[in-house]
Amino acid sequence: MSTFVIVGASVAGGLAAETLRKEGFDGRVVLVGAEPVRPYERPPLSKEYQWGTRSEESVFLKPPGFYEEQGIELLTGRDAVSLDTRSRRVSLADGSRIGYDRLLIATGASPRRLAVPGADLEGVLYLRTLEDARALRERISGSSRVVVVGAGFIGAEVAASCRRAGLEVVMLEVLPVPLQRALGPRVGQVYADMHRAHGVDLRTGEGVAELRGHGRVERVVTTSGHVFDCDFVVVGIGVAPETRWLEGSGVEVHNGVVVDELCRASAPDVYAAGDVASWWHPGFGERLRVEHFDNAQSQGVAAARSMLDKEIPYAPVPFFWSDQYEVSLQYVGHASGEDPVVFRGDPGSGSWSAFYLRDGWLRAALGVNRFRDVSAARRLIAAHVSVEPEKLADEGFDLKTLAREVARSR
Ligand code: NAP
Repeated sequence: MSTFVIVGASVAGGLAAETLRKEGFDGRVVLVGAEPVRPYERPPLSKEYQWGTRSEESVFLKPPGFYEEQGIELLTGRDAVSLDTRSRRVSLADGSRIGYDRLLIATGASPRRLAVPGADLEGVLYLRTLEDARALRERISGSSRVVVVGAGFIGAEVAASCRRAGLEVVMLEVLPVPLQRALGPRVGQVYADMHRAHGVDLRTGEGVAELRGHGRVERVVTTSGHVFDCDFVVVGIGVAPETRWLEGSGVEVHNGVVVDELCRASAPDVYAAGDVASWWHPGFGERLRVEHFDNAQSQGVAAARSMLDKEIPYAPVPFFWSDQYEVSLQYVGHASGEDPVVFRGDPGSGSWSAFYLRDGWLRAALGVNRFRDVSAARRLIAAHVSVEPEKLADEGFDLKTLAREVARSR
């Protein structure tokens, strides 16, 4: 009987295990996770879970007992510490080893830590796990002032959740605007205005020099010397793919585990999916590593199918969303914040979209209350077509019809 081992019991790993069974694999499936709980979704942790509109139980992918029923051996609270690709064994921190015929690496990413004096004071929080989210929820309910470090997705969503709960919020970001790397300076400015309009004291071009307090954090000193008093601090300064346990294994790692369009890594019978995987996307013609929920989900499924020798290249149009205040953003494709952007509609209004172009090709699009534009853009991106910026900007030009025509002509 073959043994398929999945290291990482989050969204990619959980979905992969499920898919192996759905596709009829009747060998042994071992799902190893560092956290003490079964796989769950992370998106609600900075939003609905903090607002109190989603319960803890609702974030799990599957009900208790599911993995047992499916004959999936779920090992929680177990860290993988090394991989031997010759003897085909994964070693765990408790000294045990698991042999595999095929292995999926789905270890995700870990938050970058703030490296300044005082960073280890009590009350300096990160947000990645359910346990982190519980701690944050408790702090929010018992506090009145927070400093959020980093205005990326974690920082921006947490700041909005804290304002919703009535806290005074200072948000520090080293770059000129929030979300700049992902969305670029012009869309980032829309988010800067929005946070300020909702009462966030947003300080850009500003990092942290030091955290001060007696045992627990009481104030933040910024790189330009400003001092902000606070009850707690939330740090969201990016993540790094969790590949430390692969050192010495021979598996090629370069900004994540390097895999091909079938999710295959450089060692035989080793695959990777989710935040940890840097894969060759045949449509975009480059390597992508995507740190969003939708990719973890669909690449987990794709990797499981590849493990079963179904040769279906993984070439999705990536997707994510972000809810901040009353604004719900949807994003399709993959662009850099440096790519030129074209707006459709007034970004100061409640309904607009933006399109990212590179060398004339539509690479990505985002919409705020513009599902039609986003769904048309998804098709145009998948078809890899060039669209004149004037047409994208023209509200009178029907993108949906163009997308349909393009799809029909293929
Ligand atoms: P992120 O989105 O990469 O943003 C981190 C931001 O913090 C960057 O702008 C970064 O600038 C800045 N920064 C770095 N060091 C700083 C410092 N010392 N002081 C102030 N600012 C600093 O990362 P994240 O917000 O931590 O989120 C973690 C991951 O979760 C990301 O991959 C994100 O995509 C994902 N996530 C996604 C969603 C969603 O899809 N809605 C929601 C939450 C989280 P530099 O780039 O210059 O370092």
